[in-house]
Amino acid sequence: MNKNELMKIKQKALEEHIPIIMDDTLRVISKILKENKPKRILEIGTAVGYSAICFSEYLEDNGIIDTIEREHDRVLQAKENIKLVEVENKINILEGDAVEILPTLNNVYDIVFIDASKGKYPFFLKEALRMLGKQGIILADNVLYKGYVMSDYNKHKQRTAVRNLREFLAELQQNKELETEVLEVGDGLAIAKRK
Ligand code: SAH
Ligand code: MG
Repeated sequence: MNKNELMKIKQKALEEHIPIIMDDTLRVISKILKENKPKRILEIGTAVGYSAICFSEYLEDNGIIDTIEREHDRVLQAKENIKLVEVENKINILEGDAVEILPTLNNVYDIVFIDASKGKYPFFLKEALRMLGKQGIILADNVLYKGYVMSDYNKHKQRTAVRNLREFLAELQQNKELETEVLEVGDGLAIAKRK
């Protein structure tokens, strides 16, 4: 992959305030992917394809990433970016609302990366668990949401997202099939491994 092109994609996304994965978070996930060599990854929240492009490097031969994005302009930009770094054969973009698309999918995924609307995390978790393979891993970004999730302060306008993120984390922690840790890296990263 052309690292120079990748840096340009990242730079442009940052300039346009597109919420791409933070460097620290990417480092942690890359390590996990390196160790697990996934064949099939599901990503919820493509944006302009930056994280999917980064993850594609760690796929096993002939591996594939399915990634969902509902904003048409971002889908177009993602397709352009993916072409630029020549990973079209590794990334499959599904355009639409993940709430509608997920129930139509029936694949087995080694990794599910949740990185979209925070208010929908409990639903995304349900769908992720349905399709998660043996020893599969669920990764979820932004689970601490600028510290709101762990604070008592409850009056800000994001309280629905916060409530749903708390529910999501509680469900992960209560699920006996999963071994979960939450890292204070980036905006909060949950890592849940199927035992
Ligand atoms: N994973 C990307 C960043 C994703 S940002 C990266 O690190 O490079 C979150 C994206 O999810 C946004 O582009 C937003 O449009 C999309 N999104 C939010 N809710 C969604 C939903 N319900 N269905 C599909 N896409 C959604
Ligand atoms: Mg994110």
